[in-house]
Amino acid sequence: MLTTAPFTELAAQMTGRVVTASDSDWDAVRQAFNVTADLRPAAIALPRDVDDVVAAIAYARAHGLRVAPQATGHNAKPLGTLHDALLVDVRALQEVAVDPAARRVRVGGGVKWERVTPLLAEHGLAALHGSSPDVGVAGYSLGGGMGWLARKHGLQASSVTAIELVTADGRFARVDADHEPELFWALRGGNGNFGVVTAIEFAVYPVAQLYAGTLFFGLEQAGAVLCAWTALLPDLPDEMMTWIKLMRFPDIPDVPAEVRGQAFTIVFGAFLGDEEDGRALLATLHELGPAVDTFAMAPPGVLGDMAMDPNDPLPYLSATALLDELPDSGVEALVAAAGADSGSTLTMVELRHMGGALARRVPGAGARATLPGELGMFSLGVPLDEASAVTVQAELDVVSRAVAPHKVGDYPNFVEADTDARGFFDEDTWSRLRLVKALYDPSDVFRGNHPIPPADVRSL
Ligand SMILES: Cc1cc2nc3c(=O)[nH]c(=O)nc-3n(C[C@H](O)[C@H](O)[C@H](O)COP(=O)(O)OP(=O)(O)OC[C@H]3O[C@@H](n4cnc5c(N)ncnc54)[C@H](O)[C@@H]3O)c2cc1C
Repeated sequence: MLTTAPFTELAAQMTGRVVTASDSDWDAVRQAFNVTADLRPAAIALPRDVDDVVAAIAYARAHGLRVAPQATGHNAKPLGTLHDALLVDVRALQEVAVDPAARRVRVGGGVKWERVTPLLAEHGLAALHGSSPDVGVAGYSLGGGMGWLARKHGLQASSVTAIELVTADGRFARVDADHEPELFWALRGGNGNFGVVTAIEFAVYPVAQLYAGTLFFGLEQAGAVLCAWTALLPDLPDEMMTWIKLMRFPDIPDVPAEVRGQAFTIVFGAFLGDEEDGRALLATLHELGPAVDTFAMAPPGVLGDMAMDPNDPLPYLSATALLDELPDSGVEALVAAAGADSGSTLTMVELRHMGGALARRVPGAGARATLPGELGMFSLGVPLDEASAVTVQAELDVVSRAVAPHKVGDYPNFVEADTDARGFFDEDTWSRLRLVKALYDPSDVFRGNHPIPPADVRSL
């Protein structure tokens, strides 16, 4: 039965707060990164330690509520309103410990990459973080985690060495390859469907040399740049990661004056090697005459926010797809959909080169071990009102249709809609995930962003 309890009993058991609709900061606390998400859970628990998490889960279960774990709200849209759930928001779990000699990091469940990347850079190390310093380590890692070094070192989920969590029966567990290995396997790809993660540990990597930067071209050069780039991709070593973005920077004061209100085709690159080799690998792109070239030897910390992602909450709609290739006909279709003469208002259409270690299954990896495809597409538009939301959605649909002939799957971390998560996994992985869910959370207490229902074990 759903509760109408005022949560005072839970608040009395916790060191951290419980925030409800009657609190003055309710709207601020329930605010997600994508402000079009409208989370209205029964209440929000803000645990300060493991005991608080245990109390929150016990309270939710006793009152017929589900539990939705959250850290930063960067993938809140798929959660819907959450009216039947207690949101357990671990933003206060902020432990960070770096062991440079062992190349290991331990962070609390609420830590964002911005707290980790600079500490590692001091030691010439890098984690497998993604494009935004504002994203949470836990959510990113539990969904896979595809960043700048992914072609060389794979998904962040495969570098996770241990996870601490509170499970549906209120038990604190530390899981790794030797302790509850099935749960450890499921967590690495199964998102927040198996418990509230209070801490996560992972391996990081030495970066002896990094050549990284951007090439800015006009948006009208998108076709030429994309064709030159896709021709290069089969020959690039795993040490080279490149992305291309078709960007329309909004004409607002928050955007740096040099790019405000302008549109570009931007090549991003991170190469684990020296300048001479890196420049040679991208020579055909340099020959196209970029207006700006920021490539240089750099410390690994530059990768933290090189992608120029927004750090403040904003309204947006998005579309995504994993592609097996983008032949010249695909480039033509994409440019017609979002290029300079398309009439599109989309802020960004991004393509990431994949393959390399992203396609190689490593022994002991979790449920999200690899990603299909050679390219990852993520496009985004910013609606200002209901009418422009219709326009932006239509423009995103045009982009999706342009790449549809080459689509081979979806990457759950990039999916910001309520979807059937079965489509993210092969049949065996999906069945195994559902079995682990039945074992650890048979009543389906935990509502992950991409839900995994427990297997019906009676039918087995
Ligand atoms: C600007 C931006 C840039 C991004 N760049 C990349 C990128 O380069 N590569 C990439 O792979 N992804 C990227 N993402 C996607 C990002 O990895 C996902 O949105 C991820 O789910 C965010 O995790 P979070 O903890 O920040 O968000 P949250 O919304 O807090 O969490 C998302 C989900 O993760 C689970 N979760 C989070 N914390 C916990 C916890 N402590 N215990 C249990 N479950 C938890 C829950 O299921 C939750 O619903 C980006 C997203 C944004 C908005």
